[in-house]
Amino acid sequence: MNPYLSALICVSLTLMTTLPNITKAQSRREAVDLLVLGGTIVTMDQTRRIIDDGAIAVSKGRIVAIGPRAEIEGRYTSRQRVSAAGKVITPGLVNGHTHIPMVLFRGLADDLDLQEWLTKYIFPAEAKNVTEEFVRVGTRLGLAEMIRGGTTTYCDMYYFEDAIADETAKAGVRGVLGETIIDFPVADNKTNAEGMAYVEKFVTRWKGHELIVPAIAPHAPYTVSEEHLKAVREFSDRTGAPIVTHISETKREVDDSVKAKGASPVAYLERIGFLNERVIAAHMVWPQGSDITILKRRGVGVVHNPQSNMKLASGVAPVPKMLTEKLLVGLGTDGAASNNDLNMWEEMDTVAKLHKVFSGDPKVISAQEAFELATIRGAEALHLEKEIGSLETGKRADLLVIDRDTLNQIPLYNVYSDLVYATKASDVESVVINGRIVMRNRRLLTLDEAAIKTAARAYRDKIIKSLGASGAQ
Ligand SMILES: [Zn+2]
Repeated sequence: MNPYLSALICVSLTLMTTLPNITKAQSRREAVDLLVLGGTIVTMDQTRRIIDDGAIAVSKGRIVAIGPRAEIEGRYTSRQRVSAAGKVITPGLVNGHTHIPMVLFRGLADDLDLQEWLTKYIFPAEAKNVTEEFVRVGTRLGLAEMIRGGTTTYCDMYYFEDAIADETAKAGVRGVLGETIIDFPVADNKTNAEGMAYVEKFVTRWKGHELIVPAIAPHAPYTVSEEHLKAVREFSDRTGAPIVTHISETKREVDDSVKAKGASPVAYLERIGFLNERVIAAHMVWPQGSDITILKRRGVGVVHNPQSNMKLASGVAPVPKMLTEKLLVGLGTDGAASNNDLNMWEEMDTVAKLHKVFSGDPKVISAQEAFELATIRGAEALHLEKEIGSLETGKRADLLVIDRDTLNQIPLYNVYSDLVYATKASDVESVVINGRIVMRNRRLLTLDEAAIKTAARAYRDKIIKSLGASGAQ
């Protein structure tokens, strides 16, 4: 017999005998929706476990198993797979403070302090341009930027938040989304009564959604009256909706509050019974006296925005002290008009470096702590730590696969150092949110990038026209 033919018969016979065994083994394995296989998993769980050559099994949007690849592959099977061999798998990043449609104002007015920037540029530009369509176009641009940069959850405050929720859910991104309450007429609501009616409808519509947490967002204690702040708190008590707000962003805000109310913004909010464990407070650059103790006692989440605070020269929040006091602290970009991007890798790098130079101590805020602020601690600041922020069985499957083969990451000694000081947003290769792949090998699967760019560019011309000669140059 032809030796080749005999070899072929031999192989065929072997296959015939082993195939039923393979099928049997496969049938013993549990079918899941997605397997992420290989790679170094940075879990951010309680023990900060790191698993080399690990794997994650995902079913119905949640992690059902995480461990060594051989073990997970032996127990689970899936038609949908993401290969992460040689890469890093981390929890998705949590951007704790944004005004997402403001990406359309990116670069409109820079190099000013908060009051001048807000009153001369941002508020007039918003008054003339913000419509539901503006918000949708800006949100899609912001979502695309965030997915590309590995942000899987964001906490927002803006107008037409219902449209933001709609776009966010369609893109498959997770959001704590707060409709703004402010004591002057704005694009979507002319009176406080209209604003409260809007938020009532908004929260009722989205409550219980697997991606969207609807929230109420009183702008700040200096733009919302005591009476209205109390109504916000009552609304939150009744509906369970989180309260997203800005507190103690500038020294001037604190001085004005002391003059007008005889107390710092935090002490004033405590006095009127506003603070509790559903409050998410952006900035907190200038806590006074016993403010940190009050925030801790009330379980308030605090979101630090280092780049925005630096750009507006608002000051440096005492984050090392907040961490020592075990406050719930997260990290955010703020709106892109004051940053000018939604890039959490830059915030991590900045938070670690800003506090070193400000305190004169290079040991303050380590790379690992910076990564915690963008993941598990960020989840705690949003009061979502039971659902997101780490890769653990039972939690939502929000995760990133990060390329490790880029020049800026070679060679590699320590994974946290690499993530915080060397990794760029463009190194994020694939993104999974709630078990759904929203970016695979750098291709966005839920958003049309070309259409988003065209629509956003068209808004630039409209905005310039609306501001006349005094506007952007
Ligand atoms: Zn803000």
